[in-house]
Amino acid sequence: MRDDIDQVLIDRHEIAARVQTVAQQITSDLQAHEGGNLLLPDGPGLTLVPILTGSIIFLADLMRHLPLRLRIRLVAISSYPGSATTSRGATILEHLTNLPEDLTGQHVLLIDDIFDSGTTLKAAKSLLEKRNAAGVRTCVLLRKKRAETLDQHVDYCCFEIPDAFVVGYGLDYNDYYRNLPDIVTLKPQIFARSS
Ligand code: 5GP
Ligand code: MG
Repeated sequence: MRDDIDQVLIDRHEIAARVQTVAQQITSDLQAHEGGNLLLPDGPGLTLVPILTGSIIFLADLMRHLPLRLRIRLVAISSYPGSATTSRGATILEHLTNLPEDLTGQHVLLIDDIFDSGTTLKAAKSLLEKRNAAGVRTCVLLRKKRAETLDQHVDYCCFEIPDAFVVGYGLDYNDYYRNLPDIVTLKPQIFARSS
């Protein structure tokens, strides 16, 4: 598996440091905006909504730096099915989604691995808004630098990366490589093999 790596874009130490910093920023913003209520032991708390499957490692690391009363609800969206390396549009996978029908009064932090065209995050956000969430903030590990999405807002982003297909730290190619600890690109022959 390691032989398949072309370049390491962001290593595990950089990821760990940045995830901690972003978690601190989220905590202090929530404290400021909700009058500290989200931090109280009997306050309403925060609902984390990771988009499956790519965000699971990011979620696991981020949440351990959030000293908040929180719970997790899942949304599954498929954008890059199988060996696709470009978006095929966002499809919500209902059977893997466990979102309550009514999110009235709940403050939500929507978490994804990577923001590319923005279609996935937009689909998830509109689903949460339809279910009456009190507030939805968005948080991504990576964002691809693309001129055509500059006007799209994300509340928290750990790293901006060039417009390349990346894997590792939860991100897959054809469902593999999620367990690589760093964010990497793959050698071109890997893609040639499965096409
Ligand atoms: P968007 O809908 O913003 O175009 O794409 C976001 C989704 O596509 C992410 O949730 C992720 O699943 C997938 N994706 C986008 N870019 C990449 C990439 O470079 N590598 C991998 N593994 N998945 C990506
Ligand atoms: Mg995804």
